[in-house]
Amino acid sequence: MPCQSSDELRQLVEEAKRCTKEGKVADYIPELGKANPNALSIAINYPDGRCISAGDIDKKFTLQSISKVISLALVLMEHGFRYVFERVGMEPTGDPFNSIAKLETMAPAKPLNPMINAGALVVTHMIKGGSVEERFNRLLGFIRELAGAPAIGYSEKVARSEFESANLNRALCYFLKQHKIITEDVETLLDLYTRQCAVEMNCLDLARIGMIFAMDGVDPLNGKRILPDDVARICKTFMVTCGMYNASGEFAIKIGIPAKSGVSGGIMGAVPGKFGIGIFGPALDEKGNSVAGLKLLELLSRKYQLSMF
Ligand code: GLN
Repeated sequence: MPCQSSDELRQLVEEAKRCTKEGKVADYIPELGKANPNALSIAINYPDGRCISAGDIDKKFTLQSISKVISLALVLMEHGFRYVFERVGMEPTGDPFNSIAKLETMAPAKPLNPMINAGALVVTHMIKGGSVEERFNRLLGFIRELAGAPAIGYSEKVARSEFESANLNRALCYFLKQHKIITEDVETLLDLYTRQCAVEMNCLDLARIGMIFAMDGVDPLNGKRILPDDVARICKTFMVTCGMYNASGEFAIKIGIPAKSGVSGGIMGAVPGKFGIGIFGPALDEKGNSVAGLKLLELLSRKYQLSMF
């Protein structure tokens, strides 16, 4: 089994940390701009319950785009594949995560995949419930179950900060509404979406969620199925094809594991059948992925031959 000790991980973290200087913390959501650019932490969660870690692993961060994998899993469970994929596609875009370009050129305005913002907004629109509270609590309950951590909540500050500055996401929503891909009030959808993105946890929680995806939806410690295996499979496939936005091809070649990043600097990895990974390193490259997080995954993948390919 790869990487047995926290000491081994610590060495890799020290090496990867050197490239934090090459990145920049996201500040288009003002509250995220306050993160320490030099931070880097990682946890690996094995199916037998063991966990190894390095760095400031108690530090909490918001999920941002990593939440898109979980909201997708939830709506697939609530509505089934047909309903979901009538409204959002399955193809990578090659464009930045917040791009509006292909909504106009790819008639009929159906977003290409659920990992870009346009697709994720459509997915969040599908979460069932009468009010934002009810819908958010359903998603949060699912996240808590996946992480095995009933105390997980969300950062109201980060949610508010994004809600107040999310004009590009507003533009995407209005475009989608004009084309009847979404039908609800735009501010209501943004309220739910920004809370979803602001769900907060540490690397240990994230690694445990990655482990559940890696194990096809089952908690191996008690045999309980948290999500159907075909839902876990679809989510992991999107993580491979679109998880790093328009850097997914290079990531598949260099690292080769299903993974999803977020602009907070988080990365969730799910090494199929083996373990889950949670990383936090807020300095980002120009495509919005954690620079040191990518470096760390590259070191791990090379050292322990983790590539699926
Ligand atoms: N909340 C962020 C946004 O919509 C998520 C994007 C990301 O993590 N790439 O802009």
